[in-house]
Amino acid sequence: MRFKTIIEPFRIKTVEPIRQTTPEQRAAALRAACYNLFLLKAEDVLIDLLTDSGTGAMSSNQWAGMMRGDESYAGARSFYAFEGTVREITGFKHIIPTHQGRAAERILFRAALHPGDIVPNNTHFDTTRANVEYRDAVALDLPIPEGRQPHLIHPFKGNIDLEALERTLAANPGKVPLAMITVTNNSGGGQPVSLANLRAASALCHRYHVPFFIDACRFAENAWFIKTREPGYADKTPFEIAHEMFSLADGCTMSAKKDGLANIGGFLALNDDDLAQRCKNNLILTEGFVTYGGLAGYDLEAIAVGLREALDEDYLHYRIRSVEYLAEKLAAAGIPMVRPSGGHALYLDAKAWLPHIPQNEFPAWALSCVLYLEGGIRSVEIGSVMFGLQPDGTEKPPANELVRLAFPRRVYTQSHVDYLAEVLLHVNTLKDRIRGVRMVKSPPTLRHFTAEFEPAHGALIAE
Ligand SMILES: *Cc1c(COP(=O)(O)O)cnc(C)c1O
Repeated sequence: MRFKTIIEPFRIKTVEPIRQTTPEQRAAALRAACYNLFLLKAEDVLIDLLTDSGTGAMSSNQWAGMMRGDESYAGARSFYAFEGTVREITGFKHIIPTHQGRAAERILFRAALHPGDIVPNNTHFDTTRANVEYRDAVALDLPIPEGRQPHLIHPFKGNIDLEALERTLAANPGKVPLAMITVTNNSGGGQPVSLANLRAASALCHRYHVPFFIDACRFAENAWFIKTREPGYADKTPFEIAHEMFSLADGCTMSAKKDGLANIGGFLALNDDDLAQRCKNNLILTEGFVTYGGLAGYDLEAIAVGLREALDEDYLHYRIRSVEYLAEKLAAAGIPMVRPSGGHALYLDAKAWLPHIPQNEFPAWALSCVLYLEGGIRSVEIGSVMFGLQPDGTEKPPANELVRLAFPRRVYTQSHVDYLAEVLLHVNTLKDRIRGVRMVKSPPTLRHFTAEFEPAHGALIAE
């Protein structure tokens, strides 16, 4: 690449205004939302980095596909377009559409798991874990030790610990109905998994006759990391790399709201005829007939086009590079974060950045409020509010207090990223004055969505 300026590999045909607000308006909005960013109105947010799920911009080709959508109940043309694309990329035999990734998980686990079973994974995403546990099975996280250290640089921090996987398989014959690897490892910081690790995990599983599945939500971003970081893959296309990843597995679950570049949708894909039949029977019960699975025909078209666009090299380069570029600017200012930056998100390390705020005053939560107050940025806390409350009602602070900045696909431009960097560097100058928050209303489950807070010491930022 001759020039280093990152340009968006698209031009803009439709625009949606975002609204500037004054600091006073943001302070009032934050108070009205009880210091919970989930309770803000989206129109009061300038740059929304709450999630990369379903928030991407569709292309003109996807919209054209939507117009072609065939809404026939059974055997729609749009289903065959979708099925053909998924099969071409993954090589799997049975392609089952679902309304989201979690529906694919529920259907697979309903058919494959029994109470007391164990499902190993590099790290289960929270809906995956919840769906395993709903079957009274154990969701076992086995990331490599490097994956647990936020500041350690490693090219494939998403890898599964192969020795731990082998120990689990050897010690539990008949109790592991399937093993999974999540690419990229979302809960572990959006970190990639190498093809070498996928290959070794696949071989291990097959030696123990255990089916191997991929949680494929960010398969294209993972393929890009393999291309740029794993020896031997620089000359392969993301499509070829993705195909090789899937060739090692017996099936996958997918949320099309991520690397499907769609606003809704997902699928389950697998080779086993008998398991597929049981999944399809269950699909009809809650999602719909096997050729639409809870989606409109036009959604299937949008996904079919989106999956191919997600594998475009220029797009992947722009996407991964934008996040990395922001990380470089913050690193240069000494702002602590999970390194290296992930594919879809950057994770600020609030515990290291704001060491004066005790964990029981929710440092990452307070930081996310300050990012909104100062710059109109919406992020999400991944710390004590999200994970501190145990099922028995006690508090157990997690190891890390992180603030995730997740990047919607194709939505923000280089100047938005420059703005983010400027706000974060400004917040860095205030850091010693940032104060913690107190939880004043705490629902018993998934409390981060609705809990209410107030500043613990009068103001979020001391005079
Ligand atoms: C988003 C996600 C899911 C669940 O998908 P939904 O479409 O939100 O139901 C599962 N696994 C991972 C890794 C995800 O990021």
